[in-house]
Amino acid sequence: MTPMMQQYFEVKNQYKDYLLFYRLGDFYEMFFDDAKTASRELELTLTGRDCGEAERAPMCGVPFHSAEAYIGKLIEKGYKVAICEQTEDPSKAKGLVRREVTRVITPGTLIETMLLPEQRNNYLCALYMGETRCGVCFCDVSTAEISATSFGGDAFDARLQSELSTYAPREVLSNLAARRMNDYAGVADFITGRLSAMLSDNQPARFEYESAKERCTGQFGETLPPETLEDRPLICAVGAILSYLVETQKHDVSHIRKLNVYSDGQYLELDTNTRRNLELTETLRSKEKKGSLLWALDKTKSAAGARLLRKWVEHPLISVAQINERQSAVEELMQSHIMREELSALLSNVLDLERLITKIVYGTANPKDLRAIATTVKVIPEVRALLCDAKSSELRRIHRNLDLLLDVIAPIEEGIVDDPPFLVREGGIIRPGYHADVDYLRSIAFDGKSWLEQMTATERERTGIKNLKIGYNKVFGYYIEVTNSYKELVPPEYIRKQTLVGAERYITDELKAKESEILGASDRLWDIEYDLFQAIRAEVAKADVRIRSVAALLSELDAYQSLASVAALNHYVRPEVDHSDTIEIKDGRHPVVEQFVKDSYFVPNDTKLDLDHNRVMLITGPNMAGKSTYMRQVALITVMAQIGSFVPASEARIGIVDKVFTRVGASDDLASGQSTFMLEMTEVAYILRNATRRSLIIYDEVGRGTSTFDGMSMARAIVEYTAGRKIGAKTLFATHYHELTTLENELQGVVNFHVAAKKRGDDIIFLRKIVSGSTDDSYGIEVAKLAGVPGEVIRRAKEILASVEATARALQTANAEKEPEDDLLITTDDFVEEQIIEELKKADLNSLSPFECMSFLFNLQKRLK
Ligand code: ADP
Ligand code: MG
Repeated sequence: MTPMMQQYFEVKNQYKDYLLFYRLGDFYEMFFDDAKTASRELELTLTGRDCGEAERAPMCGVPFHSAEAYIGKLIEKGYKVAICEQTEDPSKAKGLVRREVTRVITPGTLIETMLLPEQRNNYLCALYMGETRCGVCFCDVSTAEISATSFGGDAFDARLQSELSTYAPREVLSNLAARRMNDYAGVADFITGRLSAMLSDNQPARFEYESAKERCTGQFGETLPPETLEDRPLICAVGAILSYLVETQKHDVSHIRKLNVYSDGQYLELDTNTRRNLELTETLRSKEKKGSLLWALDKTKSAAGARLLRKWVEHPLISVAQINERQSAVEELMQSHIMREELSALLSNVLDLERLITKIVYGTANPKDLRAIATTVKVIPEVRALLCDAKSSELRRIHRNLDLLLDVIAPIEEGIVDDPPFLVREGGIIRPGYHADVDYLRSIAFDGKSWLEQMTATERERTGIKNLKIGYNKVFGYYIEVTNSYKELVPPEYIRKQTLVGAERYITDELKAKESEILGASDRLWDIEYDLFQAIRAEVAKADVRIRSVAALLSELDAYQSLASVAALNHYVRPEVDHSDTIEIKDGRHPVVEQFVKDSYFVPNDTKLDLDHNRVMLITGPNMAGKSTYMRQVALITVMAQIGSFVPASEARIGIVDKVFTRVGASDDLASGQSTFMLEMTEVAYILRNATRRSLIIYDEVGRGTSTFDGMSMARAIVEYTAGRKIGAKTLFATHYHELTTLENELQGVVNFHVAAKKRGDDIIFLRKIVSGSTDDSYGIEVAKLAGVPGEVIRRAKEILASVEATARALQTANAEKEPEDDLLITTDDFVEEQIIEELKKADLNSLSPFECMSFLFNLQKRLK
């Protein structure tokens, strides 16, 4: 094998799981299987290279300057890439150029802005499964954010799923495989299936506690409270992330400074299904942001602002004080149109400081990135000026802490030209007047030109060759060109180099000396410019913490500005948020649907829920009436209030809830491969086990996926349990089982409502108004007609309906003549026997006359038959 191939294999063997990008001159080449994979995935031509063996090595490559785009595609397709660079100057190397892997790129460890989604974080997750508890850690290296939590207990799987779906990591490290747990496959499927994340679970050693603890102390030092260090699962997860980062980044990760330890009870709890059903950040069907709550609330101007707002939407609060602080900031900005407009104009100029500073710290930032920092920082004085009269505590805090960073950008302003190039090694970066050497070398490199003009003139004069020219090409460098008509006048010191059709080209010693001076000057110029640029970059890197703090404040401001703009634009109001048990909404609207029905009119509706007489709203009404929309609207308004946002209503009072649950029936979850009914019941079980009095529950058509009697019985039992002493939570329950409406009279707290619709001839008019009382008209046929079902089918359905209704009426009359039936829908013999035994036990025979005794026994016997 050739020496180069030997070197290749030494490296490749250490990076077996990775596609190895091996630097050869201006290309990254891949060999063997890597080449086959890459050529297939990237549609590159597969070639071959002599490797010293009989067969040529399959090879394909990409130019180094456009490698990022190719790497991006590979990462997107689920590969990991290792970059092997030449680590010495090839022109100076003796023999084989030294090469090393300088960076490993995986989906969860990206810092390349081009490969990152702008408006959302890119998380790497570590998941540690202990005996009784589990620890999870999420880290976005590009923004230096790291958070961790640990939990155990009954609803542990659901909590884990909820954590995972909130952060939606691109890559997960875990010790799952080593744990051999029963539900291992379930968790793994969730990660790779539902989240489409890359899962690596073959390195349990990463999670070892003692070394994890050491890493954590080393990384976070004093900022880490001792009790956190004792939280084994949490520390194991954090330690695993740190070890992986060090390995992949090939660079210290000291820019990640503060571990954010959070616990349940800090945020409104929203399980995976609720997040999906409420379409908080993406729609259920198309998984797009458009049509989600986030979409309705997002008027942020900066990428970091957009990421923060997403975090707020994903983590609504439960502290009334915190919510009030956010609301006051939103209110202040909402009320001042001018301040809001100016602020959003300024924030439009804010570039992604969080990620830029990471590139600067890593030493991968280019001159344009430095300029971007300076441009952004320049808006700070104006932002501060705008906030100087702010009243709300949040805006005041932002104003107080906004660091002008003037000293930080000074070297950029002084040293870097206004519009620098991307490339770092080809000069044109440093501002004239910044450094004497640069100015001097530039004068030589550029004055070279005027010197040439001079020489041309002198030579023409001296030789008498009127059309003598001096030119430049890559092969000969500078040359003197003389046309054949003047051949006779060429002096003897001219050395002939090239003959053209009508001319000859010459060089002279003087010309060559000048040439090397000029070319040497630009080489040296580039080197010096690069050094100066690096020095400025390193200087800016020192302000890492200060720049990050400014970045955080600007993104908060952007999030407030966004909520205020949306509130002003859509006429939202500030909800009164308190610890009461009440949710009271006047003229509530659905924040997203109202945007979509803009040209028609969205009908507002009221809501009153409490823990007393209005605990369960039982909602009936035909299909398409607006039941689902209404219920989601109540949940969304509650969530929005707890985010600190204003809400679409004319008035609202929201008593803080601890958890929101939604179960939306009949939405097939094909991806997870479970039958609808099974899935529905799994979700119901989860709600019944985890809801508390302080929760808000939405059941949308529960019990659909099975036979009518089963479904209805389940539905009724679920309402009873939810409304009863066990849970007693505020509940909205939409159902097509009209039979449930009798619960209003039987269960305290249940109130009937329906969404009004009117029939006009064969047509149906939806009024979209929630009114009290129930309805049993389902207008199925009218809705079908509206949907465009052929007239013939509609007519036939009506005939069938008429005959079914006639039969039902006949049955009813017949039944009415019989003895009144027991209320129970399902009675089994066992159940009757049990009751009879109960009654026998209870009967006080002494107080009965002999005749009464006889009739008592007679009755019992009759029921047993
Ligand atoms: P249901 O659950 O009763 O079948 P939906 O809630 O799905 O009905 O509503 C059907 C459609 O009616 C929605 O897609 C929406 O376009 C419209 N709609 C619902 N509520 C309203 C409203 N309050 N004002 C205007 N249009 C509404
Ligand atoms: Mg519905």
